[in-house]
Amino acid sequence: MEQTTIEQKTFACQLCGLSSPFTYYGQKPPNTRAIVLLEECFVTQDPFSPDKEKFLVLGSTCSLCSMCVCVGSDCSLFYTKRFCMQCVNKHLDQFPHQIQAELAKKKHSSKAAVS
Ligand SMILES: [Zn+2]
Ligand SMILES: [Zn+2]
Repeated sequence: MEQTTIEQKTFACQLCGLSSPFTYYGQKPPNTRAIVLLEECFVTQDPFSPDKEKFLVLGSTCSLCSMCVCVGSDCSLFYTKRFCMQCVNKHLDQFPHQIQAELAKKKHSSKAAVS
């Protein structure tokens, strides 16, 4: 087991600029029962929950370009691995049609919401 450092670390999304201190990076947040995340994530303890086992996933690193991105649907997509939106757009043709359709729908609806 690695010793946890007390030093405050900050996660920053390189796409939307969201930044927040995180307490753990990896797949198995400490103090949780037997949770193993699907990917290595930046995790912080949920400050709004009295339950010490509650935690929030802030973001992760893109599996293609290693950029730090938050889990917001505007910044990244999880499809077997984490992809930042820049890589998703670059390699859109390699994603299944279902994902492509969902992204197209989202773009469409967000445009409609602006007007
Ligand atoms: Zn973001
Ligand atoms: Zn990327």
